[in-house]
Amino acid sequence: MSDIPATARPRSVATKTTPVADAVATATSLAAGVAAPAASLYVHIPYCHAKCPYCDFNSYAATEWPEDRYADALLAELGTHRSTEPWRDTMLATIFFGGGTPSLFRPATIARLLDGIAARWRVAADAEITLEANPGTVERGHLAGFRTAGVNRRSFGVQSFQPHLLRTLGRIHSADDARAALAAARAAGFDNVNLDLIFAVPGQTRAAWAADVAELLACAPEHVSAYNLTYEAGTPFHSWRARGELVPLGEDDELWMYQHVRAALAAAGYEQYEISNFARPGRAARHNCGYWRGVPYLGVGAGAHSYAATPGWGERWSNERIPERYIARVGSGGDATVSRETLTFDTAAAEFMFLGLRELRGVDPLVFAGRFGAPLATVHPEVEPLRRDGLLVDRESRLALSERGLMVADSVFAAFL
Ligand code: SF4
Repeated sequence: MSDIPATARPRSVATKTTPVADAVATATSLAAGVAAPAASLYVHIPYCHAKCPYCDFNSYAATEWPEDRYADALLAELGTHRSTEPWRDTMLATIFFGGGTPSLFRPATIARLLDGIAARWRVAADAEITLEANPGTVERGHLAGFRTAGVNRRSFGVQSFQPHLLRTLGRIHSADDARAALAAARAAGFDNVNLDLIFAVPGQTRAAWAADVAELLACAPEHVSAYNLTYEAGTPFHSWRARGELVPLGEDDELWMYQHVRAALAAAGYEQYEISNFARPGRAARHNCGYWRGVPYLGVGAGAHSYAATPGWGERWSNERIPERYIARVGSGGDATVSRETLTFDTAAAEFMFLGLRELRGVDPLVFAGRFGAPLATVHPEVEPLRRDGLLVDRESRLALSERGLMVADSVFAAFL
């Protein structure tokens, strides 16, 4: 694997990333005019039509799923947390339905969930509400229903427009499905759409990637996530590579593809604001920015992760992963937590750095000092050699990855562990 940063998806709290608190954790309800600590809500829907062989998310292939029972469990879990600290006074600034394939659920179910959330929680008037979809599962009528339910941002896992690469990735959709899904989303009134692409797929040529990027630009989404393929332990891709049945792309190709998408999107007016994420002005994903900036998040659903800034240096926990067991646990008391960790000063100070540096704007040393009670350079003496080596730079009073640091970001992050 090259030193291009591994791009575990930023979309969900089912990822291993965990933010730390900083000064952004407040929000104002435009409707109520009331300041309240901001929080994000992640809702995990773990079912997919098929399991993609590179995927290590907590998702399960299913031809049918207990939609109503699972939604009941989500609402029960949401109700349980609502009355407990630290969530009692929070305002939800973003809601993200991830998975899995949340668009498998009926619009009526998503509407029931959003109504239930609104009945139990304070939701900011301008909340970003995202729902992920596999282009192969999109039905035109459902898209309008999701919009009516209150979803205002769609995210499609396009991954590629090349039929042979979609086959390699085990995707159930075609390039035409992706184009049709986007057109249907536009027709349903969605003006904030993300498209995901994957590069460094075995067998992918530079020309094929350039064609994918050109096709993506023709689609004119507001937001783009471009991930390099990673071979996660426990996935078929990992085993196939170990057995020599899959040959990863070389580092030179991988680097070329990363630089190509960066240059092409910049030329088209997209701002790269994170290692793998690009947006039209004002369209950065607020939910994902929350993870990198330390906004507390509650994750509900099978295997969902949560993070709270209190007590001390913060706390995180995760839910039972198996959907039926999750439903059963919630049904017998409301709490699906199976692991809990209280963060130490060292862990929180390290996470502040390697999460904050994912954003190209970098971290604010003053915010660090305010949070940890000591200068950044004292707590992290490793900053100075990284700066000397030209991997970190001072930019507008913040500390950020340099252009060279961006290419070896995983190594930079490892320095803080
Ligand atoms: S559709 Fe998405 S969540 Fe489901 S198996 Fe494929 S990559 Fe994983």
